Amino acid sequence: MKSSSKHTFSQQLLAWFDVAGRKDLPWQQDITPYRVWVSEIMLQQTQVTTVIDYYQRFMARFPTVQNLADAPTDDVLALWTGLGYYARARNLHKAAKLVCDEFGGEFPHDHELLQQLPGVGRSTAAAIYSIACNGRAPILDGNVKRVLTRYAAIDGWPALKHVESQLWDLAEELTPDKRVADYTQAIMDLGATLCTRSKPQCPSCPVQNNCQSFASNTQTNYPSKKPKKQIPTRQVHMLIIENNRGEILLEQRPDSGIWGGLWSFPEAANADELDHYIDQNLSTNSSKQHWPLMRHTFSHFHLDITPVHIHLHGEITTIMEAKPQLWYKGHPEQQVGLAAPVKKLLDAVFSSDLLREAPL
Ligand code: SF4
Repeated sequence: MKSSSKHTFSQQLLAWFDVAGRKDLPWQQDITPYRVWVSEIMLQQTQVTTVIDYYQRFMARFPTVQNLADAPTDDVLALWTGLGYYARARNLHKAAKLVCDEFGGEFPHDHELLQQLPGVGRSTAAAIYSIACNGRAPILDGNVKRVLTRYAAIDGWPALKHVESQLWDLAEELTPDKRVADYTQAIMDLGATLCTRSKPQCPSCPVQNNCQSFASNTQTNYPSKKPKKQIPTRQVHMLIIENNRGEILLEQRPDSGIWGGLWSFPEAANADELDHYIDQNLSTNSSKQHWPLMRHTFSHFHLDITPVHIHLHGEITTIMEAKPQLWYKGHPEQQVGLAAPVKKLLDAVFSSDLLREAPL
C-alpha cells in the first residue's frame, strides 16, 4: 500500500473519530493500564453494551490491580458470572498477581512484556500499550479484522496463519505515528458502529472511497467464514439436590476443563450412573423429577443437559466426593462463580415453580 493511502486511511479515520467516536465509555475515563486491560479482556468476546455493567461492578470491587491480586478466586469468578469464557477471569487474576509480584504493582510500559501476562495476546497488549502508555503498536481484534478484510478485500478465514499474517502487516502499515491512542479507539469504533457484521453502513463510512469491498459491493463476503464442521453432542445429567431446608448442593469443578473453578451440580453421564449415585450417596428418602432438556453450546461441542431435581425428605449424611462442596441458599451475599446454565437452573429453583411443575 502506498504511504499516501496509509496516511489517508488514518487521517480519515481520526477526523471521523473526532466528530463521531465514542468517548464516554467507563474505561475511557481515568485511563490507566489497569483499567484499559480489564476492559480489553472483558471486550474480547463480549459486546460493549453487556460489558459496561460488569466493568463498573468489577472496578467498584477491585479498584486497583493490588485489590484484584489479593482477592479470592471465587470473588473474581462471581463477578464474572454470566460473561462466559471463564478462562479470561482466571487469567486476569493470575496476571494481577504477576504484576504485583514481578513489577511492583505497575504494568510494564513495554509491548513485549505486556504480552507475557496470562491472557494478554499481541492485540490486547497493543491496545493497552497504545491507549494507556502512549506507545505505537497496531491492534488486530475481531472488529479490526472485519474492517481490514473488507477495506483491502482480503480473502480467507482470518484465523488461518497466512491470512492473519497478511492482516498484521496491513494493520502495522496503516497505524500512524501520531495520535495512536485515538487511532486505536477509532478503528475499534469503526468496526463496532459502522462496519458491523451484517449491515455495514458504508454511506457514512469515513474510509469508503478507498474500500475495495465497497467498490465491488462485496462487503458482506468479508471476512471469509470459517470452514463448516459438525460439532459433536455430549449428554449429561445435572443433579439438583435440594435438602429439606431448601438449599441446593453445589460442587466446585477442577481448575482445568470446562467451567474450570466454577461451582456446578453433581453430574451423572447417563441414567444408570444417576441411579448408582442416588443409591450410593443419598441414603435417605428422596423423590426425583426430570426437568426439560436444555442445550448449551460450546465452540467445540453441544452439551445436552438433563436436569434432575432430587428432593431429600430427611437429613442427608455426607456425599462421598473429593471435590469441595457447599449448600447454596440463593442469597445474593453467597457469592460464587456459576456457569450460565447452572445459574439458569438455580434461578428456576429459587424464583419460579414453573419447571418443577413440568416433569418430562
Ligand atoms: Fe466497512 Fe463499508 Fe467502510 Fe468498507 S466502506 S470499511 S465495508 S463500512
